[in-house]
Order: sequence, then structure tokens, then C-alpha cells
Amino acid sequence: MSFDSLGLRADLLRAVAGQGYARPTPIQEQAIPAVLAGHDLLAGAQTGTGKTAAFALPVLQLLAARKSNGGRRLPRALVLSPTRELAAQIGERFQAYGREVSLRSTVIFGGVGMQPQVDRLRRGVDILVATPGRLLDHAARRTLDLSAVEILVLDEADRMLDMGFIHDIRKVLALLPKQRQNLLFSATYSDEIRRLADGILHQPKLVEV
Ligand code: AMP
Repeated sequence: MSFDSLGLRADLLRAVAGQGYARPTPIQEQAIPAVLAGHDLLAGAQTGTGKTAAFALPVLQLLAARKSNGGRRLPRALVLSPTRELAAQIGERFQAYGREVSLRSTVIFGGVGMQPQVDRLRRGVDILVATPGRLLDHAARRTLDLSAVEILVLDEADRMLDMGFIHDIRKVLALLPKQRQNLLFSATYSDEIRRLADGILHQPKLVEV
């Protein structure tokens, strides 16, 4: 299997080649076509499987193909991550893959000053990667408008639950448009993950690696 057969556009294939990736990993092979087709996704995958590209590449393609919401450039994809380290890594991947498609991404997490994040949000972003607590801070201060989110990614959902983020996740969900595509990644499955997935995902494609 090669990247060419997954339905990715030429500029993203160039980005992938630029990273030196020779062929897709199993999670990429299964997830990329499903996400491009607009499906919700429930993916079981550990770190190191290439899961970040499995959602970042199709998310970039879907957003690049659809026109943005006028001049305000509100986030159209939201990626929730349990930790700032993971959020920073995901943000770095979006930068690397997104260079060719002129989409802007940014990362916001707690423990650092609000103002630089406020400034970046105000300048406009297409893809927002965030930890739940700081995301809610911005929403409460009205420095973030989530009304244009079309795609939600919950990465390492099991870790988010382990870290006690379930209430924060539910608050974030309440701020998002009802009509959206949802991708949930988890290394493990518990009853709690299944309940979360049941409440969020609509007829998801299941991917297990
Ligand atoms: P992740 O599981 O998303 O944390 O990715 C783990 C590592 O694999 C990262 O350093 C990626 O840059 C790398 N990677 C992702 N996809 C591929 C691929 N298709 N071929 C080779 N390396 C990859």
C-alpha cells in the first residue's frame, strides 16, 4: 500500500514525501480514507503508530477543500489533547504537514501566559490544538469562538479520562456546533470510553491496530 492510494491531494502527498515517509502505517491506511469520506471514527491506537498523521492529513485536506468562514478565520478543527507535551507535538505535526495547504494552526495549553494565545487566536486560526482546561478559560473569557468547528478530534481520550477531564470535555462539547465530524483516538477501551464514544460518535468507522 502506498500513500498515493489513500485519496490525499498532491500537495499533502508532497508534504508526506518531504517527511521521508515511504508508506502509510496501518492506522493511516485505514483512517485516512474513512475521515476523507466524512465518517466519524473510533480508533484504537497507541503513540508511535503514526496516529497523528492519521487524523492530521485528512483534516487538513477536508478544511483546504472547503471554503473558510469569511474574514474572521475561526477554528474549523479542534484537537483536544490531555497534556501540553502531546498538544505541542500535534501542533508541530500540523505545521509540518500543513505548510503546503496554507492553513494556520496554533496550540494553546495551560501553565503559560494567556495573552500570546489571545493574540494568536485573534489573528485567526483554522486548526486549534488545545488542552481542555485552557480551552475553557479562553471560551469563558470570550477570547475564543468555537461556533465554526466542523471537526473534533479527541486524542488519547483514555488518558483524558484518567486525568479527570470528563467534565471539561462535556463542557467543551456543549460549546460546539451539533453538526460536525468526530474522531476519537484511544489506546485502551473501558466502559467509560465506550460511553463517551457512544455519546459523541455517529455510526463511526472502527479502526484497530
Ligand atoms: P505518532 O504515533 O503520531 O506519535 O507518530 C510517531 C512517529 O512516526 C512520528 O515521529 C511521525 O513523524 C512518524 N511517522 C508517522 N507516519 C509515518 C509513516 N507513514 N512512515 C514513517 N514514519 C511515520
